[in-house]
Amino acid sequence: MPPLSQPCGTRSAYERHRRNRESACDACRAANLAHTQAWRRAYRELLKLPGVAAEHARVLESCEMPRRHEKAQRVLVRRHREDFRVLLDKELAEHALAAATRPEGR
Ligand SMILES: [Zn+2]
Repeated sequence: MPPLSQPCGTRSAYERHRRNRESACDACRAANLAHTQAWRRAYRELLKLPGVAAEHARVLESCEMPRRHEKAQRVLVRRHREDFRVLLDKELAEHALAAATRPEGR
């Protein structure tokens, strides 16, 4: 049975727009942007964990151009999948809370 599809305003729905080669609606674009920003914040937090900054430097050295920073990011996120998941969930939850408590409610 196929999974129920997510409503607009979620990252899954944003990806569905992309898969269907349609331009994403505003709600989905906002959700995707929020997710990207949360991902970046979570990654910065990951680098603050003990030993991770030093590991990042080593991984970066071993990655080849071009886009070695992106390759290093992927390696670190994969190695620290569990920690990263927790950090990302926290960032996403904080963003959801901030959005919910914003005066206009958007
Ligand atoms: Zn949408």
